[in-house]
Amino acid sequence: MALPLYLSDDFAVVLALKQSDFSDRDIPEGNEFERWTIFNQYVLRNNQETQEQQDVIWSRFCAVYLPAMVDRLISHLPVPLDADEQYAYSEDTKHASDFAVFNPWHEMLVQVQHVPYIGKYLRSKDPLAAQGKLLPQVLAQRVAAVGARWDAKLRSPSITQEERDLYMGAATSAVQLLSTICIHFINEPDRTRVVARETQVKLGKILMVWSRRYRHQFLGDVSQRMLEFMSGVIDPIFVRMRRIYQNCDVCGLDSCQVRTRLMACSRCRTIRYCTPEHQRADWSDDGHKLFCFGTEY
Ligand SMILES: [Zn+2]
Ligand SMILES: [Zn+2]
Repeated sequence: MALPLYLSDDFAVVLALKQSDFSDRDIPEGNEFERWTIFNQYVLRNNQETQEQQDVIWSRFCAVYLPAMVDRLISHLPVPLDADEQYAYSEDTKHASDFAVFNPWHEMLVQVQHVPYIGKYLRSKDPLAAQGKLLPQVLAQRVAAVGARWDAKLRSPSITQEERDLYMGAATSAVQLLSTICIHFINEPDRTRVVARETQVKLGKILMVWSRRYRHQFLGDVSQRMLEFMSGVIDPIFVRMRRIYQNCDVCGLDSCQVRTRLMACSRCRTIRYCTPEHQRADWSDDGHKLFCFGTEY
């Protein structure tokens, strides 16, 4: 059995971020339905690992491939050539804008959104990480482009339960991802520099509807959270969430509760400790050693 760690390279191959060592495993650009199918198989395989192993795989993936993946997602989404109708949830939604929210690169970002390397990447000033600054705007634009159509679908009396689940799931995960990424930008007082005013207006309309209609569901919560972000609120919960996402809330040693004067691990800068002693104590085969990777960003 291959070491699970290699799964991060498998994901990179299927996402066309790395060439396979076995050329038959590279998926030609445009064969997007095939890519989507294989990607989902990998996600299922990954879900069979322990939570810790999954975190190691995602951490390594983000450390090595995150800049290339975001670049793909933002600037180089392929055009599906094969069986494009299979992307759409149903026949009447055969829209290219669906693919923008509904593709393996977007789904990969959904999977890794809470990995601390995301925070490191988003705050990095390295040119390699420049695309990350565009992520909130691009994701917001894409959700705004599909929102009204997906909502009409959700309100349609003829929708099947299966379709409803698919649309609800897709809308929830897209808005959740957007709000999670935006949390990293709460220190920007002018939120129109994060999500442009025009996009905010368009997106705001649909989020307002969802925050009311689905207020007892997760879609309502994340829509509300995103509306608050756009309105410029600095909710203490956002501050707390940002600290948790960036892994700088508490000393990295599990048994320690110290929250002040923490120092980052100099290699990965994705975890912080109160003292060098606690850093050493956490550097074990089942501790931070597993998650610590250098990055180019
Ligand atoms: Zn400590
Ligand atoms: Zn480290």
